Amino acid sequence: GGAQLELQQAPDEILGLATAFNDMTVRLSGAWEQQRQFVGNVSHELRTPLTVVLGYLQSLLRRGDNLTTHQQHALATAISETDRTIRMLQDLLDLARADSGNLHFRQSPVVLNTLVAEVVDMSQKVSKHPISVSTTSADVVALADQDRLMQVLINLVDNAIKYSNSPIEIAIEQTGDLAIVRIRDRGIGIALEHQNRIFERFYRAQDSSTRSRDGTGLGLAIAKSLIEGMNGKITLRSKPGEGSTFTIALPIWKSSS
Ligand code: ADP
Repeated sequence: GGAQLELQQAPDEILGLATAFNDMTVRLSGAWEQQRQFVGNVSHELRTPLTVVLGYLQSLLRRGDNLTTHQQHALATAISETDRTIRMLQDLLDLARADSGNLHFRQSPVVLNTLVAEVVDMSQKVSKHPISVSTTSADVVALADQDRLMQVLINLVDNAIKYSNSPIEIAIEQTGDLAIVRIRDRGIGIALEHQNRIFERFYRAQDSSTRSRDGTGLGLAIAKSLIEGMNGKITLRSKPGEGSTFTIALPIWKSSS
């Protein structure tokens, strides 16, 4: 008799558990959504006053002929930190938008050879860090959002420059149905224990003494969310002391798609 009773009770218990679980899931995703909106709102609200502060600091420094060297230095630091905070808020806003699915991707055929050449040109205007590009003979055409892909490539090239002193190598290739860009540096590299966390928000591998001061720790999180938003993948291979290779794989553009 007992076994049967249990059998009869079991579906009810499971049903009860399932209801409780579903209830929790709904409440959790509601809380998650609120959190997202909160981050988005805070970022937005803080950006405006900080932009005003930045403007005043810059104008103080510009007219700062009668300031001591110490005061000028203090102002310059205040400016760069304010500027970094504003960029961080913009990044958080972008991530909040991506999380809520409000980031719209404009997918179109993108000739990677041309886009990479543009990124290299732009980079060479601000830094003389040598960059070489190797391509297969034919153009590789990806299906992607051109502006956002450019943003990601600039970010990866900037990082490669920040964390290395030797030439950066960019390779473009097509493998099966994938359009691939590899950005390789021979710099400090990333330890294995950091490698799968490096795409997390605010995660930074180096301690505060060695990592770049002007970064936000959000660049790679944004890169990942943007690349995934255009149906691609971004991966990392690295060895400390030998360098890092970031690989972006995107669907190739097919004339029928
Ligand atoms: P940021 O550069 O603003 O700190 P990112 O999200 O772009 O933030 O990068 C996160 C962390 O990943 C960096 O702080 C750094 O520790 C590490 N990193 C990124 N790119 C490289 C690279 N090419 N070589 C070594 N470390 C890197």
